[in-house]
Amino acid sequence: MIVVLNHGVTQEQVQAVLDRLDREGFKVHLSKGDARTIIGVIGENTKTRLPGLALEAMPGVEKVVPILQPFKLAGRDFKPEDTVIQVGDLEIGGKQIQVAAGPCAVESREQLLEAARLVKKAGATILRGGAYKPRTSPYSFQGLEQEGLRFLAEAREETGLAIVTEATDPANLQLVAQYADIIQIGARNMQNFQLLKEAGKLNKPVLLKRGPSATIEEWILAAEYIMAAGNYQVIFCERGIRTFETYTRNTLDLSSVPLIKQLTHLPIFVDPSHGTGKWSLVPAMARAGIAAGADGLIVEVHPNPSEALSDGPQSLTPENFEVAMKEVKGVAHLLDKEVARLNK
Ligand code: PEP
Ligand code: MN
Repeated sequence: MIVVLNHGVTQEQVQAVLDRLDREGFKVHLSKGDARTIIGVIGENTKTRLPGLALEAMPGVEKVVPILQPFKLAGRDFKPEDTVIQVGDLEIGGKQIQVAAGPCAVESREQLLEAARLVKKAGATILRGGAYKPRTSPYSFQGLEQEGLRFLAEAREETGLAIVTEATDPANLQLVAQYADIIQIGARNMQNFQLLKEAGKLNKPVLLKRGPSATIEEWILAAEYIMAAGNYQVIFCERGIRTFETYTRNTLDLSSVPLIKQLTHLPIFVDPSHGTGKWSLVPAMARAGIAAGADGLIVEVHPNPSEALSDGPQSLTPENFEVAMKEVKGVAHLLDKEVARLNK
């Protein structure tokens, strides 16, 4: 439910409503917009209990209305203003654009450190790399696991890049969370509800990739699982969906970017690497993602793509990544945004 306050409501009146809701055991979110002040209310049985409080009789209250969307916490009704997620000095969801780049998988200490240095030089602020890999075949390289996490931490130490890496199971979530600045939940796990609930108990940003055949509503409801468990730091990531098309690995559904922005207050990244499966298409779709309004990109870059243990065909060389970054900066500039840089 949301409580809509009158134009010109006073601070004291707002506080009185907040106190009343607090006494009744509800959790609230106050949104002070230019046009309107709104209180989002959550708790057990809000729909049946709130009308009994007759909040409309309190000074400054215009109306109490239900949220009609199936998702509540993620929706704009509940919180009209954009959410900005802080990762160290970096802001995700504001005027800055963040670019996460690095190999699909952490393969060795040397490979990862080299990739980290190169993507930092080209202007990335976040290092990506999977230590736990959700591979289609059980015979494919499955990742270095904790050793890979240690290499990621070492790369962060040396370069100052933030780390995004995937947790594939509630069993490795805690460990991944100890090392990562942002926890990735992969496309295949978008509806692993146990993993979502556990990630909701952490105080760490979660990059939630879209399932290969998930509707937008299912995807937002997956975010809602994380938020309902208490963690509001969710970043969507569009990485393409499965269609009849076979020239590309997935079909990058860029219409989801403005749609997610309309429906929710959360930030969204675009992954042009898994979205296309072909390195030659990645720069164009990276530009397009930013043009569509994405708050960031996650791009696979490998020091030597032809030798990559996973996703080589869609990985950019460091040189091509550098060119793509320049182009992305140009698009960001047109939108009055800025591609963030590391301070150190
Ligand atoms: C990845 O980022 O390497 C990955 C496995 O992505 P997705 O979950 O989108 O397939
Ligand atoms: Mn990959």
